[in-house]
Amino acid sequence: MPVDIMTPLCCLAYCRPGFEKETAAELMHLSQVAGIQGYVKASQDTGYVCFYPAPQLAIEQLNTALSFDRMIFARQLIFVSEITQQLPADDRITPLLGSIQALQTRFSQVLLETPDTNDGKQLSGFCKKFSTPLIKAIEKQQLIDSSSPWRLHLFFLSSSEVFIGLSHLKNSSPHAMGIMRLRMPKAAPSRSTLKLEEAFKTMLSEREQQTYLCNGMTAVDLGACPGGWTWQLVNRGIRVIAIDNGPMDQALMDGGLVTHVRADGFTYTPQKTVDWLVCDMVERPMHIARLISRWLTEGHCRHAVFNLKLPMKKRYDMVMECREFIMDELQQVNARAIFRIRQLYHDREEVTCVIIRL
Ligand code: SAM
Repeated sequence: MPVDIMTPLCCLAYCRPGFEKETAAELMHLSQVAGIQGYVKASQDTGYVCFYPAPQLAIEQLNTALSFDRMIFARQLIFVSEITQQLPADDRITPLLGSIQALQTRFSQVLLETPDTNDGKQLSGFCKKFSTPLIKAIEKQQLIDSSSPWRLHLFFLSSSEVFIGLSHLKNSSPHAMGIMRLRMPKAAPSRSTLKLEEAFKTMLSEREQQTYLCNGMTAVDLGACPGGWTWQLVNRGIRVIAIDNGPMDQALMDGGLVTHVRADGFTYTPQKTVDWLVCDMVERPMHIARLISRWLTEGHCRHAVFNLKLPMKKRYDMVMECREFIMDELQQVNARAIFRIRQLYHDREEVTCVIIRL
């Protein structure tokens, strides 16, 4: 008979430093919706938040109840078995192996990680060096199994303090530290281009990317200059009407797939329905939510990607308010849609939203 996997102490969500409150709010909200009681522990600028279910629950139950896909501010979700606070400097491997064996399962991958903070960055050299002997020792215990649905995480706060936990391959980010690292494309006119690339690659499945981002499609880019988002669309063979009073990158214009219209993004409407509306204008979030709703419900676009720039306070509430507003508007015209929201690695004080009309 298989032995039960450990019962987690807490769920640990990694987040952008400074967004611990929002991550805590969403963990509380999602657990309440799932009928799970518990409390959170979060400290400002640490880059992570812990949710403690009370009473403790089986890992499978938590993994089913807390859907990573529905999280906005959490970059990664792991179930922590132990928080080791005093790893001896002369032999860290022996106590760690004991804790890892106590998980009662094998893993397809082992990740040594840190919070995405300045202190965390300083620790990354230690993690790199330590990973080879530790992974060798784990392999020797025959704990690596490529068919396992679990990934092992060692989340280091210092060289002696570590959270030991598991993530499920189907309910987590596939990237180390929950961060998709992208290389800046040389020809793209602005760093903003990485936001749209990350949105397409992490918020759409491969199949959705093939279905919804095709050569020959059309798009409008509101607030397009100098053209980083337009570049991503053009790179996929999509024709773009770029709306902005500013100047567009000349090389991008020379490619022949872009029409630049100097107009106000809040009043412009296209003559024909386009496949995509993308919008990166810096405006109050509710103002953007109204604009996007109008485009979708009046049929000017089929799908949309847009940013909501967040206020200083009540950021989680504001995102929920915008989402509710758009969903209500879509419901009023009986439109079925997939609506995803994430704070991406390349987002700063903002979140990215993707809406796909079905
Ligand atoms: N996504 C762009 C890129 O990747 O290069 C960067 C966009 S930048 C953050 C915001 C742009 O929105 C600016 O170029 C600004 O001129 C434009 N903008 C702001 N308000 C606008 C409006 N009402 N109508 C059209 N463009 C607007």
